[in-house]
Amino acid sequence: MNWDIVEEALRPYEIKLQAQERLRRRLGVKEVDQPTYERYIIGPIERFDRRKNAFLTLKPDNPFGEKFRERFKARTGQVDWTTPLPYNELEPEDRLGRVLATAVRRPCFEYHPEPFSATPPEGRLEARDPAWMSRLIKKVGLFLGAEMVRITKVDPRWVYKDIEISHPYAIIIVVSHVRSMLDTAPSYYSWLSSAEAYARLKFITTQLTDFIRGLGYDAMYRETLGHDPEMLMVPIAIDAGVGEFSRNGRVLSPEFGTNMRLKAVTTDLPLQIDKPISFNTHEYCMACENCAIYCPARANPFGPPTDQPITINNNPGYRKWYVNAERCLLFWGVNRKKWMSCGGRCIAVCPWNKEIGFFHNIIRWIAIHGSGSIKKILAWTDRKVYQRRKSIVKKGESGIDVEGL
Ligand code: SF4
Ligand code: SF4
Repeated sequence: MNWDIVEEALRPYEIKLQAQERLRRRLGVKEVDQPTYERYIIGPIERFDRRKNAFLTLKPDNPFGEKFRERFKARTGQVDWTTPLPYNELEPEDRLGRVLATAVRRPCFEYHPEPFSATPPEGRLEARDPAWMSRLIKKVGLFLGAEMVRITKVDPRWVYKDIEISHPYAIIIVVSHVRSMLDTAPSYYSWLSSAEAYARLKFITTQLTDFIRGLGYDAMYRETLGHDPEMLMVPIAIDAGVGEFSRNGRVLSPEFGTNMRLKAVTTDLPLQIDKPISFNTHEYCMACENCAIYCPARANPFGPPTDQPITINNNPGYRKWYVNAERCLLFWGVNRKKWMSCGGRCIAVCPWNKEIGFFHNIIRWIAIHGSGSIKKILAWTDRKVYQRRKSIVKKGESGIDVEGL
């Protein structure tokens, strides 16, 4: 067997992988044996009932959502966050964003292809070794459009209660939003940026699934959107070393900050797993409250983590930052003339979401290694330098009665 042609064909992606690894080393990102979310666990972790997922509580027959559905109807006049206004009630510039988002988001909700049948065992391509195969999968993922690919074991705690996944490995695919669109949050264009990211993820994960099946192993792309979720992507991605847990409930990575969307492919293909990472995200989020300050719905928490879940959507058993997903969804529904969903203003204002480059990498290094006071100065400076110019909805200026959400 001569694998040279494979190495040659995928060389650009090997170079990209090496650049990603080099950047983490230079930033002083540590690989650790235990995921850093362990610090937040204070009680027994039970598998989460997906009917308590905020999106699913809006489904008419969900017994966990009766009160929230009443509140949603009373506050927004609608029964679902996806209820659109007729096009002719929108200003042309908003209509354009909405039309483009509607076109782009279709694969998220309507493209669920039956994967190819796995090649039978006698036709299986025997992997050289799990380390080589992991590298190959990462390079193929990058070729398919992923911006980062990480691999971990499937921890059953992070699979929803009524779902069974027998595959031992999860391949985590990361893509980022188009920044110029995300920065307009909340708007039809920030909604478009998240729809576009999820559409790309759907194509990448379905293609990767078919690739692995073609090699002779079982694989399946996993739904992670609110409508039909199978896995809790935040802890799984932290297990895989994508990043760490942050104040706004998302994974924060050294490269993308919180500016990313995630999906997974699970498989029985033998793979070498990645280690979780540590780069003082908790300490940075303690010093920075941008996502709380600029959330137009006041859905993100200020202050230190607590052990008090806020709504039924919160997974108990942790002392962490709990996000009020009901307030978030209510905000999405209160002004259909201007937005369909917020699209993630909490993501847009995170100081970690800067382009990779010499200057911002130095700031990244200081943000990781600086003291609490330095971190505070960085977060303050970021607010001064960037947020005023980027703000569409500043604290108290959303025009929405956020206290009444
Ligand atoms: S998506 Fe928007 S409303 Fe929801 S938590 Fe983030 S900033 Fe707040
Ligand atoms: S905006 Fe600040 S507090 Fe929020 S996730 Fe980003 S770094 Fe953490």
